[in-house]
Parts: sequence; structure tokens; C-alpha cells
Amino acid sequence: MGTVPKKAKVYYLNHGPNVAKEKEFVAKMIELYCRRKHRQGHLCKECRDLLNYAHKRLSLCPFGERKGACSNCHIRCYKPEYRDKIKAVMRYSGKWMLLFHPVYSIKHLLRKVSE
Ligand SMILES: [Zn+2]
Repeated sequence: MGTVPKKAKVYYLNHGPNVAKEKEFVAKMIELYCRRKHRQGHLCKECRDLLNYAHKRLSLCPFGERKGACSNCHIRCYKPEYRDKIKAVMRYSGKWMLLFHPVYSIKHLLRKVSE
């Protein structure tokens, strides 16, 4: 038996269906926000950065598949600068998501309520 090389740090990354859905949801919200607010014709650098950050937070969320809505979470894993940005996105895109993606929004809201 050879020695198993030690990994410096092991992160458990979430990859279950709930987290995947949540990632899709946040991507849609940010895309919508950017398209209407920044009007670059594509996801601008700032929004791409925010999306990467949001996806990373989701991958590392300690609740994993049992996570609830981020807005109800007490951990506050977002850095303040990103938290402000994502809040603006949610505020703006929330109502549009209800029109364009009612299934997403309703599911999201239901999960919020059922906590
Ligand atoms: Zn943008």
C-alpha cells in the first residue's frame, strides 16, 4: 500500500438538484438585471463577477441541499459589497421573475414560507 497524498484543504462542494436550481435562478436574475440596467448586450464584468461569487457561495453553503432562501439565512456568507449588489438584483428582478418565470418564483417563495 502506497501513501495517499494529503490534500491541503478539502471543501465539500454542493452539487445536488436544489443547489443547481438555485444557481440557475440566481443566474437568470442577474442576467435580467444586467440586460435592463447595464445594457451591454451581454453580461457585464461586474455582473459576471457577482454571478461567479453567488455560485461559489451556493457551492460552499453549509446547509447544502437543505438550504432555505438566502434572504432568510442567518449566516450572511456574502461579503457586504456583494450582499448590497445581490440585494439590488433581487429587488429589481424579483417582480420580473414572477412574470417571466412564474414557476421559479413561486417555488422560491414557497420554500421561503415553509421554513
Ligand atoms: Zn451588469
